[in-house]
Parts: sequence; structure tokens; C-alpha cells
Amino acid sequence: MDLMLKGKTAIITGGSVGIGLAVAEALAAEGVDLALCARNEERLSAAGEGIRKAHGVRVLTSPTDVTNPNDIEALAQQIEKEFGGADILINNAGTGSEEKIMDAPDDKWQYYWDLHVMAAVRMSRAVVPLMRKRGGGAIINNASICAKQPLGYEPIYNTTKAALVMFSKCLANELVGENIRVNTINPGLVLTPDWWKTAGILSEKEGITAEEYLDRIAKENAPIGRFASPEEVAKFFVFLCSPAASYCVGSTYYVDGGWLRVVD
Ligand code: NDP
Repeated sequence: MDLMLKGKTAIITGGSVGIGLAVAEALAAEGVDLALCARNEERLSAAGEGIRKAHGVRVLTSPTDVTNPNDIEALAQQIEKEFGGADILINNAGTGSEEKIMDAPDDKWQYYWDLHVMAAVRMSRAVVPLMRKRGGGAIINNASICAKQPLGYEPIYNTTKAALVMFSKCLANELVGENIRVNTINPGLVLTPDWWKTAGILSEKEGITAEEYLDRIAKENAPIGRFASPEEVAKFFVFLCSPAASYCVGSTYYVDGGWLRVVD
């Protein structure tokens, strides 16, 4: 299938590792120029360099903390200068949490609200004018299955990701008339380096290997019995932000190996 993406420009927050990097690689393979942001400059530059070498596309890497409104403004200005406009925005930067509601302080709630919700609000406000210059675009918000089916140990993550899904729906309604499609993807278990790190720590305590730990998590949760690779999930992102998905608007798509236990 021709995804009609060659020559487009995509912005990916958290594009230096994990799902964001896999989406960046997959878009670059389709001939898409990229603007990638994350906080760790060294890891981000290395990711950008790897993609440039492998795919020959233009890659702007910009150290950015998406919880900081000034950083987002500066990023948008850089993108406008470098590319003149933008076609695709993937709001992906995010991370899990661990707390009890009764113990977590306000500033922790505020941080995750800024990271998962306000970053998407501010990135959209900054990037939509660049999409208008191209006559339209696509925005994908990477939430999580936890937006619908909460995990017990991370109520702040669950709550802020649920808010991101509603933001995405509202934005879709606001922008559909301008040929800008907004959708959400809710991944399930995706085997990123962060999971390996967690598994390394927790498996040691139990006297099992990281592989055994991850295998148990997968079998206990996802009917498919395994984690997704970031590359598997990235393929769906690429389809959804391509013109091939032209009738997909304001929806939430699960890529979760059957983990969601309700019909949605
Ligand atoms: P990783 O931890 O592997 O990558 C997160 C990326 O986001 C990194 O590039 C990181 O770079 C960047 N990032 C984190 N905080 C900020 C910040 N404040 N400003 C800018 N960039 C930031 O995560 P995953 O790939 O696992 O997850 C990506 C998204 O997918 C997240 O939103 C997550 O909630 C969601 N998700 C993941 C699942 C999974 O199983 N892995 C399942 C469901 C959803 P740096 O630290 O340098 O800033």
C-alpha cells in the first residue's frame, strides 16, 4: 500500500527511544522528514544521527522538556525555520508512575498533568498553525490502555492518560473542518528499554531472570501472551497518520494483544 507520506514532515515528542524512536524510524523509512525532541541531548542526537544515516531524511533534533511551555515555543520556532510547516504531530513523551492517591502530593499530580495533558495541548497549539500552512495534517496522541483499564499502582498515570484521550476527542472535533485529523492510540504492553530496566530490578528480588519476569507479566495480562515490540506498534502509528487513514477521525485505537477486557 502506498501510504503517501514521502516528503512530509513529522514531529515526535519523546522520539529518542522506545515507541517514539520506533515511530520515527518507521516514518523515516517512508521518506518522512523528522523533528524529534526529548530532554537527554546525547541520546536524542544519537537517535537522529542513526536515522539520518539509515534513511537519508532530514532530522532536526531539539533538546526539549515538553512540560516547559517556553521549550515548546522554541521547538515550534525551530521547526518553522527548518521545515516551513508540519504535517504530522505525535504526542508521545510520557512515563509511568507509582503512588497511592492518599499519599501523592499535588506537585506530582501537576507534573504528570503537564507531561501527559498540557504538553499535548501546548504542542497542538504551537504546531497546528504549521499544519495550516500545509493545508492539513494529522495528530496522534499516544495515551495507554490504562486510560480505560487502570493499573492499580499508577493512579496518576491512569487519570492523566484518560484526560489525554478526552482532550484528543475534543481537539478532533475542533480541527476536522481544517483537514486536520486527530486520533489516539492506546498501546498495551510494549517492550521498551524501560521495561527491561524495571524487569532487571524486580526479577533480581524474586530470584528469576528479567526474561522470566517479563514473560510472566505478559502471560498474566495480555491474551496474546507476549509484549509487543515497539516496531509492531509503530506500524499502526504510521498508518494512522498517513492519508491512507483519511476517514479515521476522533477515535481511540487499542494495540494491546487483546488486553482490554471490555468492548469499547
Ligand atoms: P520510554 O521511557 O522508552 O521513552 C520516553 C520518551 O519520552 C523518551 O524519549 C524520553 O526522553 C521522552 N520524555 C520523557 N519525559 C519527557 C519530557 N518531560 N520532555 C520531553 N521528552 C520526554 O517510553 P515508552 O516508549 O515506553 O513510552 C512512550 C509513550 O507510550 C509514553 O507516553 C507511555 O506512557 C506510552 N505507553 C507505553 C507503553 C509501554 O508498555 N511501553 C504502554 C502504553 C503506553 P528523555 O528522558 O531524554 O526526555
